[in-house]
Amino acid sequence: MNAYKTYDVIILGSGPAGCTAAIYTARAGLKTLVIAGAASGGQLMKTTLVENFPGFPEGIMGPDLMFNMMKQAEKFGAEIIHENATHVDFSSRPFMISVEGEVFRGLSVIIATGASPKWLGLQSEQRLVGRGVSSCAPCDAPLFRGAKNLVVVGGGDSAVEYALFCANIAQEVTLIHRRDRFRASKILQDRLFSEPRIKILLNSVVEDIIGQEKVEGVIVRNLVSNERWRIDCDAVFIAIGYKPETEIFRGWLQLDEEGYIMTRNFVKTGVDGVFAAGEVMDKLYRQAISSAGFGCMAALEAIKYVEMIKSQDRI
Ligand SMILES: Cc1cc2nc3c(=O)[nH]c(=O)nc-3n(C[C@H](O)[C@H](O)[C@H](O)COP(=O)(O)OP(=O)(O)OC[C@H]3O[C@@H](n4cnc5c(N)ncnc54)[C@H](O)[C@@H]3O)c2cc1C
Repeated sequence: MNAYKTYDVIILGSGPAGCTAAIYTARAGLKTLVIAGAASGGQLMKTTLVENFPGFPEGIMGPDLMFNMMKQAEKFGAEIIHENATHVDFSSRPFMISVEGEVFRGLSVIIATGASPKWLGLQSEQRLVGRGVSSCAPCDAPLFRGAKNLVVVGGGDSAVEYALFCANIAQEVTLIHRRDRFRASKILQDRLFSEPRIKILLNSVVEDIIGQEKVEGVIVRNLVSNERWRIDCDAVFIAIGYKPETEIFRGWLQLDEEGYIMTRNFVKTGVDGVFAAGEVMDKLYRQAISSAGFGCMAALEAIKYVEMIKSQDRI
């Protein structure tokens, strides 16, 4: 047991939430390990220009922002390993976190494993992510201001919100939904149906996204008539849901029906000393800056918690 390396805080995930938490805990002098994940840097590694992260008037490329955040955490002494945590044990203290073949102990843990957007599963889609295909309209639609047509796919609140958002940016928006009605709330649907710039296609699916270097259009199929046709567009926003990365916490922490970690006082989980930050617990805001904000809160709580248990040990 004593052979395991022990840290004051172990942070799982290296998106904006995990990196911000690491900057705070390491700078406060806590011995900090970041288990960054196999996809270190998180979702922003998949995008191009980020225009709404404060401090960068000209914008900053997503990967550059994330490399900077990791560098800043390392500057204060955080150790980073680029692997996934595979197992956790919160039954005794220190908490145990396993990665492939190795176990680490943490007096406190910050979970910032994020959420992954669900995609349509088309080959063209993955090739064009960051080149007109996006899962985040508030993030990326402003890059297409004045566009002739933007396509949004989905039928829930997010899809309708994205379509309304895009209608302020583009000349026309096409909202494509595979069912014959929307799941979105009535108030959003009322706004949708009164927006003349949004064209609605129900019972329809996107079968392909066209373009080599950037999005040029989509192939749509009507599920009732089987008719197929092309719609020209500059970008496609996919809003068909997210999947929080929480499988390894199932049984240890309370998750909601969609799998998000449930917290109280913003970042506290049901286990004292285990905190959650960013999109792994926040399905409302989904922004880099809000995730970073939750990372900051989780770090400040972890710092307080570690100080408390260390002072108890001294008594
Ligand atoms: C295409 C795109 C463009 C976007 N553009 C913008 C934008 O312009 N502005 C903006 O504010 N927001 C933007 N966003 C949203 C923003 O990226 C997210 O809100 C933010 O990244 C969430 O941060 P997070 O730290 O909570 O999680 P994530 O960024 O999802 O990071 C989660 C981290 O956890 C790691 N992880 C997962 N499982 C494990 C595990 N088992 N063990 C260890 N690590 C694990 C992952 O590898 C990853 O490093 C965009 C998102 C996308 C997809």
